[in-house]
Amino acid sequence: MKKFIVDMHTHSAFSHDGRAELKDMLAAAQGMGVAFYGVSEHHDFDVRLDLIENEDLRARLRAQGGEGYFHAARHLQEDYEGVMNVAIGAEFGYSDDERVQARYVETYEKFRPDYVINSVHTLDGKDFAYFQFEGDKKTVYSDYLAAIRRSLDAPYPYHIVGHIGYAARYASFENVEFDLQEFGEQLDDIFRVIIEKGKILEVNSASKQLKQRSIPDKALLKRYFELGGRKICFGSDAHFPARIADKWEETVQTLKEIGFTYLTLPFRGEEVKIEL
Ligand SMILES: [Zn+2]
Ligand SMILES: [Zn+2]
Repeated sequence: MKKFIVDMHTHSAFSHDGRAELKDMLAAAQGMGVAFYGVSEHHDFDVRLDLIENEDLRARLRAQGGEGYFHAARHLQEDYEGVMNVAIGAEFGYSDDERVQARYVETYEKFRPDYVINSVHTLDGKDFAYFQFEGDKKTVYSDYLAAIRRSLDAPYPYHIVGHIGYAARYASFENVEFDLQEFGEQLDDIFRVIIEKGKILEVNSASKQLKQRSIPDKALLKRYFELGGRKICFGSDAHFPARIADKWEETVQTLKEIGFTYLTLPFRGEEVKIEL
């Protein structure tokens, strides 16, 4: 095992909310010394487009991912052969809707992404980024965690469990943390299933305005470690060049404090271990 800079969760203009061309993201990553770079464009088939009022956003959500993306991205991947390790993946937004799940199965079979990040962004097709959910914290967060638990049984292949705690990024509760006192039972269940299934827990550094430095935060990562979880991966969730590998050093530090000694990367059909 050797030490490398890794970023396995990134977006470009192939995603509805990406703000830079993929070729510019790749050039920036290489310039920063990233050795393993994962492209994980959104495939938000879970979002209910009829509830999105902004016409432009609706159009961009319709256009994301798919053929245009994989075709262009595979060419760029070839260009970087021997220069930087580039994986062409996808972020699938989980939904309970079987038609949505079938579209992910189909997308996977058609394009064979190098890896998949399975993420919960929505409840009933409404993304936490665009909708304020009614109800108290206990209700909203419990519903969110229950959706994550169901997402672990998704019928399509996936490797990484994306940003557990995403709902906190956009919540307006006084204290937005997922504390173990209150949600420990659900979180333990999720962590145990991730471990059992051999999936990789993502450490996502896009905590936006939150006090915590990563999603999930340190307390949750510590709990995962206590339960025996060792497979973790780093992702910045960058949507523009300046955020690539954001908070890499401090996240590595935090992970080492907890006891983690390596990252696990799903890379072209195998798991690569990177020393922290
Ligand atoms: Zn996401
Ligand atoms: Zn993302």
